[in-house]
Amino acid sequence: MYSKKVIERFENPKFVGEIKNPDAVGEVGNMKCGDVMKIYLKIEKGKIKNIKFKTYGCIAAISASDAMCELAKGKTLKQAEKITHEEIIEKMGGDVPQIKIHCSVLGTRALRKTIENYKNEKNK
Ligand SMILES: [Zn+2]
Repeated sequence: MYSKKVIERFENPKFVGEIKNPDAVGEVGNMKCGDVMKIYLKIEKGKIKNIKFKTYGCIAAISASDAMCELAKGKTLKQAEKITHEEIIEKMGGDVPQIKIHCSVLGTRALRKTIENYKNEKNK
């Protein structure tokens, strides 16, 4: 069902973990396969300096989380908000089963939610 690249990323994710004293945290879930994705961000001068994730979910969700983090790291918040699930899928090797597309969409939702939380916190 999954391509080699997706499995490889699932087995060796680079961005899995937590950030101590993060600037922002965000969590989203999806009903379809019960994935829960939590994102930690460290932000410096409007850029994502560090990003980590904790995902409880299917292979596609974990692989998508890692691909999303790789795309987001080093980007400005504005650029990061514009990351699409198509880009995430491309980063995952371009081959994700149709019924698992929503897991990559979850990646973009998680990132946007975390950035939103950061902005809300700042504007308090
Ligand atoms: Zn999933």
